[in-house]
Amino acid sequence: MKEATSILHHIPVDLQTGAIAVPIYQTSTFVQEAPGVNKGFDYTRSNNPTRKVLEDLIAKLENGAKGYAFASGLAAIDAIVKLLEYGDEILAVDDIYGGAFRQFEQVFKKFGINVNYVDATSIEKVVNAVTPRTKLFWIESPTNPTLKIADIAEIAKVAKANNCLLCVDNTFASPIGQKPIELGADLVVHSGTKYIAGHCDVIAGLIVTSTPELGEKIKFYQNATGGVLSPFDSWLTIRGIETLQLRYKQHSHNAQQVAEFLTTLEGVKNVYYPGLASHPHHDIARKQQKYFGGVISFDLTIDSAELAKEIVCSTKYFKLAESLGGVKSLLCHPATMTHKTIPADKRYQAGVTDSLIRLSVGLEDAEDLIEDLQTAISKALAKAKQEKISA
Ligand SMILES: *Cc1c(COP(=O)(O)O)cnc(C)c1O
Repeated sequence: MKEATSILHHIPVDLQTGAIAVPIYQTSTFVQEAPGVNKGFDYTRSNNPTRKVLEDLIAKLENGAKGYAFASGLAAIDAIVKLLEYGDEILAVDDIYGGAFRQFEQVFKKFGINVNYVDATSIEKVVNAVTPRTKLFWIESPTNPTLKIADIAEIAKVAKANNCLLCVDNTFASPIGQKPIELGADLVVHSGTKYIAGHCDVIAGLIVTSTPELGEKIKFYQNATGGVLSPFDSWLTIRGIETLQLRYKQHSHNAQQVAEFLTTLEGVKNVYYPGLASHPHHDIARKQQKYFGGVISFDLTIDSAELAKEIVCSTKYFKLAESLGGVKSLLCHPATMTHKTIPADKRYQAGVTDSLIRLSVGLEDAEDLIEDLQTAISKALAKAKQEKISA
């Protein structure tokens, strides 16, 4: 069975009523026949039929053993770190998602879990950064916002050789673009908020484990600390997954056209998109990804925050907002939004210049999106020329 078919037919028809849409079991508890005798459900924090459909579905999509749904991507990340013990270390990709960085540094550090950061595009650097205390590798690929690519299969080998777990935050690629468990990862985590739910109407997190044993451990923390996804939000996320393949393909198709256009536009300096042959790790991206996704970043030959702000405030279809992966196009200015707390020198090292703009290319017609960017950029450049804005 092909993936498009298996996604839709892995969502069961309701046995009780024949409902083709998954029923929302909006209940906290379940009536028992006798103490401890029930139909597989006793309390919604522990298990809920609507959430279970989503959990089975995401496990299937990632080709893993077990799936779990959380109240947010960060709640899911929190459950994974809780697999560790006091004194253990995480080896994480250096341009990690900001919210994960804050959780590692400001929550888990005080409980004795330390994190080392490494440029995961270099296997040699990854090998050298492992210490005897390293227990968990934490990879994102592509990364935010400069779309760096790590070779997941190679990193999985290093993790195995050092008896470490490998977790891949697969939010940007989605299970349609890339399946880290097939590449050797032990855990996959998603912000379901982004491509998976896909409509900017829900906050959700998902975990998939490669083995049932690891799944049982995650389930323990899911129930013990309680950051579960509600039945209604589970339902919205299932509904999102029904069109995920279609959407992700089209996001990628549109983004490829927008990225190629940007490389030809006057005033644009670097275009970061793994689908461009000019991307430094395009070959690795091609090896491990089926599609390259909808996120593109670019900066300007005049490296001015003012100029970038002028652009992000004047597009018509690209709306100014944080987040990504929804049906409508969004854009943001990382230097003054998502990355504003990072000191300028560190920010520049990561490629996040003052003029960098991140796009989440939506499902509008690519021609309209291109025209929108062309107009906004050329207007801003003309204005800058008039006002003599320079770097
Ligand atoms: C958004 C995001 C998260 C956090 O997810 P929330 O649902 O916002 O908690 C984690 N990782 C990546 C890569 C993200 O983009």
